[in-house]
Amino acid sequence: MSEISYNIISYDPEKLGLIKITKKVLADFLNLVGVDVSVQCLECSGRDQLVSEWETIGYYEGSDDDGFPGRLLTLSSKVASQLPASKGHKRILVTSIDIGRVVGTSYGWIAIISSHQIQDDPETFATTVFHELGHIHGAPNTERKKVDRQVNNDPEIVELEKEMQGENAIYECLDFGEHCLNQNCTMRQRLTFENWKVLTKERLAADSPYCESCLANIMSHFEALKGK
Ligand SMILES: [Zn+2]
Ligand SMILES: [Zn+2]
Repeated sequence: MSEISYNIISYDPEKLGLIKITKKVLADFLNLVGVDVSVQCLECSGRDQLVSEWETIGYYEGSDDDGFPGRLLTLSSKVASQLPASKGHKRILVTSIDIGRVVGTSYGWIAIISSHQIQDDPETFATTVFHELGHIHGAPNTERKKVDRQVNNDPEIVELEKEMQGENAIYECLDFGEHCLNQNCTMRQRLTFENWKVLTKERLAADSPYCESCLANIMSHFEALKGK
């Protein structure tokens, strides 16, 4: 399957053993979806230079038309210039650099995960890797039933999840993209770090990191790649 490739790109990898955790999660992910490809790792120097470049850009300034924050845009274009990403060629950037109030994000086929807020919690970092891997593989699929309701905080999100149990529905909160509402799924969303840790506990207690619908979305993404 040469049309599919994975690169883990790291800035400051020694922190938390980011590459090791990311490799393990990616191996579990590929095993789950039955895809056998090798994963390449690229360690980048220049972390300090990157951080100083960022000092002139606010976290959320200089956003593009999709509202993708300026700092992350700088980082993703840096990644893309070294290793162009495409639908089949996924790039997973791991770093200890502070990327803003989120622990992870994704842009097209590039996932960015930061340990800055996570500090000494490898399982929460792993949850974030699973979550962003889901996004760069088309989960949750935007064709799923979308709940049109504004939610602004974690209690409201949890309430909506309870209400929509068994509906395979998705929603969008604060322009952060679509997220799943199914029980125990890693493609759900939390806006605070503390609650993201709770979601990690739920992931660890569940049989699979993804609900059936999100897994099906990911599988059909692979089908589309193979069909090309
Ligand atoms: Zn997300
Ligand atoms: Zn799901």
